[in-house]
Amino acid sequence: MRCPVIVKAILLLTLAALAPPATGAEYRDGKLWLDILLNSGTELTVTAPPGKAPGFLLSETDSPIQKRIPESFSIRLANPEKLAYWGVLRYSEPWREDSGGVMREQFAWRDSQLVIDRLNLVYDEFDYPDRESACLRAAELGLGRNQVESIPMLNSTVVVRTASGEKHYFETPLSLHSFGPLRIDGSKLDFEGEFRVKTSNGQVLISQVIDLEEYLAGVIQNEIGSNAPAEALKAQAVAARTHAVNLLLSNKHKSEGYDLCSGTHCQVYKGKHLQNQAILDAVRQTAGEVALYLDGVAETTYHSACGGKTESSANVWKGSPRDYLNGVECLPASAGFDLSSEKGIRAWIGTPLSFPDMSSWEKASLSWSKSISKAALARNLGLSYINRIVINKRGASGRILDISFYGSGSVNLNSEYRIRQAFGGVSSSAFYIVGGFSEANGRVTISPGATLNLKGRGSGHGVGMCQVGALRMARQGSSYREILERYYPGVKISKLWIKDE
Ligand SMILES: [Zn+2]
Ligand SMILES: [Zn+2]
Repeated sequence: MRCPVIVKAILLLTLAALAPPATGAEYRDGKLWLDILLNSGTELTVTAPPGKAPGFLLSETDSPIQKRIPESFSIRLANPEKLAYWGVLRYSEPWREDSGGVMREQFAWRDSQLVIDRLNLVYDEFDYPDRESACLRAAELGLGRNQVESIPMLNSTVVVRTASGEKHYFETPLSLHSFGPLRIDGSKLDFEGEFRVKTSNGQVLISQVIDLEEYLAGVIQNEIGSNAPAEALKAQAVAARTHAVNLLLSNKHKSEGYDLCSGTHCQVYKGKHLQNQAILDAVRQTAGEVALYLDGVAETTYHSACGGKTESSANVWKGSPRDYLNGVECLPASAGFDLSSEKGIRAWIGTPLSFPDMSSWEKASLSWSKSISKAALARNLGLSYINRIVINKRGASGRILDISFYGSGSVNLNSEYRIRQAFGGVSSSAFYIVGGFSEANGRVTISPGATLNLKGRGSGHGVGMCQVGALRMARQGSSYREILERYYPGVKISKLWIKDE
């Protein structure tokens, strides 16, 4: 169904000209403020944590209307069926005062600084109530599906229903101020500060407007344990801050109206859930510091445990190699082992390791064993049986990167993540199958028995900073800069990327 949108377009133009940008990203008071999505849904409830009195102030952003709400409330769209509009983005251009489209702010990296550009988005003249129809239109125009977007609606009406049954109507976007901590939709996570309520694609979105540093304190608590030694927490803070800047530069969520989500898709952010003084100190003592490589932001990926040596990013993600992500030695004892060979990885996994001051999760991620039946493995691969496994390639960390299975058919896997899934969700692909093997032309052939016993090392993809390794280095007296230099050799730590406006 195609409908002309001249009237609505005019409405959008007017609103775009009047309304503030749909996202919260801005430099203010020397800080970078972000808009972090906390939750979305057709209806969201907002409460105070048990034992605290709820108290909220809801204000329309485009009008003086505001309302103090002294109790829990739920919020939903007044007319949900009318609020999904899909359109084809024809092009974007720099925003000017007289621009007549929809304004969007985008992050960009210029002159070694993170800048926020204002763009004028020019959509096709038609829009659609569903994504598929918009995709057909994009094809007609010779444009890709990636040009199809949910068109931001700035003035959706939402209904706020209080715990005692009062109803209030507001036009989005809304500012939500909470006089104490709040919780959304029964979650046990508490958030404090300033929030926004928006609508996108038929859903209500609640996001937090928070400065990058405070956001990071809510990120690193989930990553390396809130009781980690200070230098490991600081290394994690710099890695997570750098990763956040990379995520911002990818502008992944801009068309949905916020900067980052709070789930694993971006970085897990849980407010003040596990925060303690050590975490706040780690963020404060590294304030603004990110890892740069040459003139750009380094990709500071990290993982739980490499298992001995870290892996090359080009092996895991098939991109072009990066000098600072080529794989390094993490445990000095692994130095004499060629982990890319079957004999080498078997000998290394068979070498006992002892770290008396390690926590149980660190030990478990460093060395593990697991069994899977041959029948279950075949099922995971979509085969009715298998009788031969060929390991085609292992990386520098010993991770299997390419493996083939033969039986009722043949299946080849060349993603370390898929390989882990096929073997029942093992921690890493740096494992071997206990029993005999034969080797020819660099390929290892195994005829598995009814049960495959796996012995492995490491947890996660193995690229970049190894968290178990960072903890060990910190306990042995290394500084956070030494930790970062080990896992990302050649990067430079800088805080000059923040644009001081
Ligand atoms: Zn995300
Ligand atoms: Zn390691």
